[in-house]
Amino acid sequence: MKIPERGTAPEQVLEDMRRIRAEDADWKSGRTWSLVYHASEEHTRLLKDAYCMSFSENGLSPLAFPSLKRFETEVIAMTADMLGGGPQAVGSVTSGGTESILMAVKSAREWARAERPAIERPRMLLPLTAHPAFEKAAHYLGVEAVHVPVGPDFRVDVEAARRALGEDTILMVGSAPSFPQGVIDPIPELAALAAEQGICFHVDACLGGFMLPWLRRLGHDIPPFDLGVDGVTSISADIHKYGFAAKGASTIVYRDDRLRKYQYFAYTDWPGGIYVSPSMTGTRPGGAIAAAWATFQHLGEEGYLELARTIMETNRRLIEGIQSIDGLRIMGEPQMSVFAFDMQDGKAYALGDELEQRGWHLDRLQFPPALHMMVTPPHQAVVEPFLDDLAACTRVVASREDESVSGMAAMYGMMAALPDRAQAKEFAVDFFNQLMKPGS
Ligand SMILES: *Cc1c(COP(=O)(O)O)cnc(C)c1O
Repeated sequence: MKIPERGTAPEQVLEDMRRIRAEDADWKSGRTWSLVYHASEEHTRLLKDAYCMSFSENGLSPLAFPSLKRFETEVIAMTADMLGGGPQAVGSVTSGGTESILMAVKSAREWARAERPAIERPRMLLPLTAHPAFEKAAHYLGVEAVHVPVGPDFRVDVEAARRALGEDTILMVGSAPSFPQGVIDPIPELAALAAEQGICFHVDACLGGFMLPWLRRLGHDIPPFDLGVDGVTSISADIHKYGFAAKGASTIVYRDDRLRKYQYFAYTDWPGGIYVSPSMTGTRPGGAIAAAWATFQHLGEEGYLELARTIMETNRRLIEGIQSIDGLRIMGEPQMSVFAFDMQDGKAYALGDELEQRGWHLDRLQFPPALHMMVTPPHQAVVEPFLDDLAACTRVVASREDESVSGMAAMYGMMAALPDRAQAKEFAVDFFNQLMKPGS
């Protein structure tokens, strides 16, 4: 493929794009249960206006664009306040949860290099359910990941974490909540262990950061999980998830700047000038930062509480509905609007494929096979039709005997059965490689 020799008129380009987009997941109708967090059409219009207002500006330079500096520092100050941070709390707006987590691990690594120079091979303790962004951080930053098992309730096993601690451990991690089952790790117990050792502790609240504080206000029983807990040194929360901002906005907040200073990167010997950058990216889209600020201003606590109320009411109806279907079981006790369920005889993947036929797209979990749901406002309108289809599909799959598996079920089944995980990894990378060819 080449860049077209001649340009095309804007209307035609947009028309072509509309056609190309036709096969995308139809999230507006509430038939997908991941990837997009949509509050309302009205809210999205504001996001687009705010984003476009700062569309061209670059967050790389707070000196050139004091508006972005103000938006960012105020977004961080408001997020820190929401998450139990004191007046000393500091942080950055990043491009997403993954970057926030990379920064948390990078700060811990630099801290250890400065304060624990004897450590040659730094390690971090990760609950098995921790987000792969931590594995990515391990891979990029040379910090070894040590996996800590979770108990039958899918929360990390604190005793196992204690046993896994070693001289080289620089960082411990807990999720609030974890992506797979939506349960909150025992943060106070874990953070106390970290404090005893004098090491870093990061809370991954990428998913829950903008829900749990409101749920607590609404009277839900939410255990302590944020910077208010002794021993927690940093926390990440995604504004582009339940914060309902435009994509490309997450936060990393530290208790104070003792750790944050290790996040920054500076190079002062470049002929191009003195270069200081807070995070992974160089150029930072001003629009994402501006839209995050606009979201806080527009929604206010009131707006967030109202969204949380609607989401949790929808969530309750879904969970009760699923529990009443023979053969399905909610995994653990989800504490928010994200949960998983499995099907008897390990038939969750076949059920997922059956639902797919009826236009419902649910993420697949593994070890054991399960289906995943992340509830957002558009789902309010589809609870009944979804539960009807789910009940019907469950009956179909349950009554099918000798399963000749196809579709996603076949692929997931095959991947889970590979005893050699290096082979599984190679297969996944090959698959992605094939997928990312133009025209495939
Ligand atoms: C989404 C998510 C992340 C990663 O965030 P991205 O914005 O996708 O990079 C990390 N942790 C948890 C628990 C998440 O749900």
